[in-house]
Amino acid sequence: MSNDIKQSSEAKKLARELLEQGKVSAVIGYAEGTLKGRVQTLIARNPLDAEKFIFNEYCVNNLAVYLTKSYRLLKSDKPVAVFLKPCDIRTVTALIQEHQIKREDIFIIGMSCQGVRNGNGLSGKCRACRMHNPQYSDAVIGEAIEEKEPEVTDPFARVKEIENMSTQERWQFWTKEFDKCIRCYACRQACPLCYCEQCIVDKTQPRWIESSAHPVGNMAWHLIRAFHLAGRCIGCGECDRVCHQNIPLSLLNMKMSKEIFDLYGYRSGVDPEAKPPLTEFKMEDNEEFIR
Ligand code: SF4
Ligand code: SF4
Ligand code: SF4
Repeated sequence: MSNDIKQSSEAKKLARELLEQGKVSAVIGYAEGTLKGRVQTLIARNPLDAEKFIFNEYCVNNLAVYLTKSYRLLKSDKPVAVFLKPCDIRTVTALIQEHQIKREDIFIIGMSCQGVRNGNGLSGKCRACRMHNPQYSDAVIGEAIEEKEPEVTDPFARVKEIENMSTQERWQFWTKEFDKCIRCYACRQACPLCYCEQCIVDKTQPRWIESSAHPVGNMAWHLIRAFHLAGRCIGCGECDRVCHQNIPLSLLNMKMSKEIFDLYGYRSGVDPEAKPPLTEFKMEDNEEFIR
């Protein structure tokens, strides 16, 4: 039996049991898509629906996005179960760190993961992956995978190349990229950490940011999003993946994560007890305004 079939069958069985036994209110997972090589999200609320669950190399979406975008609809007195790949589990930790969800309200079904495809090949994040086995899960689907040195050993290599550009070269690089943006906001919708109830770009009274696809508004939108995600991005790569204009959004977020790590030694989504550095202060801080 292939690994995909075995994992899919284990996933169906576990989801069915959780729903039959009333341990969870719903299970968020993957089901076959309408096109070959595509999958779609399935939110199962009864054991029959659980038979549709699958897991394979096309299960690229980070389903933790539903824990913020749809959580209020799913919330009940029972936990919600969700299929999460090891990299996606960092989202749950980050959301707990930010007090958006409680650990006891989520049943994590951790999927052992050999990598997912993006386009014709292995996704870029999988080439640098060092955590194929789920941590912090309530149940694990799939066999343990031996961790090996990844093909890409420095995930920040491209960020460093951009850091080495002159200020003018960097300005030209990003201006050219942001000019391609058509302001569809797919990046925001796919991001599990972009969960503001009303995004600043949608505010009209007052309107803070030019809303049409215009160079000035585009620059403002991308800088605001990068600052809002500073040190919060868990690097799932969903924003990059959904941007049909191929704007390398992850590079910006990785740069901000690198800065926060260098300054505060903090990585989002790693330790549920760690406090996000931009949400706390110390009385002995050098800056007067903070006290
Ligand atoms: S980064 Fe690792 S855990 Fe995430 S999809 Fe790729 S191989 Fe799986
Ligand atoms: S997905 Fe791409 S094109 Fe759409 S708003 Fe985001 S960056 Fe712009
Ligand atoms: S990689 Fe993109 S989608 Fe994922 S958390 Fe970071 S900003 Fe959000």
